[in-house]
Amino acid sequence: MSHVSVPPILDETRLSSGRLENLSARVETTGGRESISVCAPATDDEIGTIPACTATDVEVAASRARSAQSAWAETPVEQRASILRRFGDLVSERREALLDLVQLETGKSRRHAVEEVLDVSLTCSYYAAYGPDAIAEEGRRGAIPLAADARVSYDPVGVVGIISPWNYPLTLSMTDAIPALLAGNAVVCKPDEKTPYVALALAELLEAAGLPPDVFQIVTGDGPTIGPALIDRVDYVAFTGSTETGRAVAEQAGQNLIDCSLELGGKNPMLVLADADVETAARGAVQGAFTNAGQLCLAPERIYVDDARYDAFLDAFVGATRGLTLGLAFEYGPDVGSLIDGDHTERVAAAVEAAVDDGASVVSGGRRRPDVGPFCYEPTILTEVDPDSQIACEETFGPVVSVTPVSGTDEAIERANDSPYGLNASVWTRDRERGREVAREIDCGTVCVNDAYMAGWAAVDAPMGGVGDSGLGRRHGPEGIRRYVEAQTIATSRIGPLEPPSGVPTRWFVRALSGLTALQRRLLRWSR
Ligand code: NAD
Repeated sequence: MSHVSVPPILDETRLSSGRLENLSARVETTGGRESISVCAPATDDEIGTIPACTATDVEVAASRARSAQSAWAETPVEQRASILRRFGDLVSERREALLDLVQLETGKSRRHAVEEVLDVSLTCSYYAAYGPDAIAEEGRRGAIPLAADARVSYDPVGVVGIISPWNYPLTLSMTDAIPALLAGNAVVCKPDEKTPYVALALAELLEAAGLPPDVFQIVTGDGPTIGPALIDRVDYVAFTGSTETGRAVAEQAGQNLIDCSLELGGKNPMLVLADADVETAARGAVQGAFTNAGQLCLAPERIYVDDARYDAFLDAFVGATRGLTLGLAFEYGPDVGSLIDGDHTERVAAAVEAAVDDGASVVSGGRRRPDVGPFCYEPTILTEVDPDSQIACEETFGPVVSVTPVSGTDEAIERANDSPYGLNASVWTRDRERGREVAREIDCGTVCVNDAYMAGWAAVDAPMGGVGDSGLGRRHGPEGIRRYVEAQTIATSRIGPLEPPSGVPTRWFVRALSGLTALQRRLLRWSR
């Protein structure tokens, strides 16, 4: 790796450029490769470089993963679980250094970075405890009671490819890898090229926890170059990223006849009903809309408030938003950090300008803050947003949210569902039962009542994912591990071939079979 000077930002962390070089050296290539520069959003200075892997490097990584996978699959599941439990412990123990790394490569505030560390250690504990049962061999109803039984076993698919984005590099390179590994798969992970170091640090911790060599591999580089090469060499792809790239991933997975899960974008609605406690809802809106400077797939970007509570909610929300502090310290001080880079800051600023051109009013924020950091942008609240404008329909993925009055719950639900996306929504009401009823009317994979996103995300036992343009498949819960296994059914007959015994006329056999089927239908009805 070429020599890099140590920018002052590294001095504030527990990291050094030497440490980043060591991490970068973990990426194995088959020859001298071009380097990709990795910059810290807090200063826009280069903090290091990573190799631009090629399709050949991906092929080597995938074949090494494939060679290592069979022995890993034969390792008893409880042993695999204990390695992952140990890995979760190591993530907790190394929390401060990992937080420094997450902050360094994303620019997010420490209070938002810590969600990633907690999430990964929780997910490890969850799958270590419940994963083995979710993929244990089980008996199912046989074709004919007493005469034939059926047992189902779950085998790992083989090599799982994980393609992850930059916004939650710790969580999103690991949360889908943990159940894949527990199920006995090898994993090849391609983190976003803007945030590769966290994934490399996690690979190191997996090894320290006892994961055998080659079972977890990292390839770094340009998405459109090595992403397709990876999809061509794996047996399953777990993709998190934009809807546009997700469509390309699904198309290629379809051509290869491999399964995939796609965790994509959203335009998440938040519904504040007439009986909501506006102060609580305003706190939830601040947490949801401005966590990680709004670069969260689950963040609310459209808030619909009952006419009766609109003014009170807007006052409370604007007040709380103006109280937020922007900053880039490597400690739990500032509320909101930086956007990821200059291009993304341009996109966010342009989206707000276009909204204003379309008639929207900025009631809070709406400005870049280069005095804080090159890519800092104020938490921004818009009102009077044209429902057909770009900002109302397309994901901004920044600290920008619109607030719109609605004439009642029916209109709020109608507006919420008027989107091709369906990732996450929230409903705010004092009547939790009513909140759940409204939630059932909303076309989203997750709906939180009286919380913006955390109650849904942190319920690791419950499936999470999107409908419509927000994706396919589910992570978390038993669903999150069963996607990585192939079910094999073994059906055993105790009476030989299920056909008319010799000498018995087919007519009689059909009559006996019909009787048995009727009995089975009755038993099924009775057992329910
Ligand atoms: P992106 O689609 O541009 O990139 C995501 C990953 O895909 C990166 O690793 C990238 O290098 C790779 N990639 C790019 N082109 C590829 C290709 N042709 N084939 C294979 N891989 C390719 O997404 P982004 O802009 O970096 O991330 C932000 C998006 O991710 C937002 O839309 C956000 O909502 C979404 N997201 C969704 C979730 C979720 O759980 N639903 C979570 C986080 C982010």
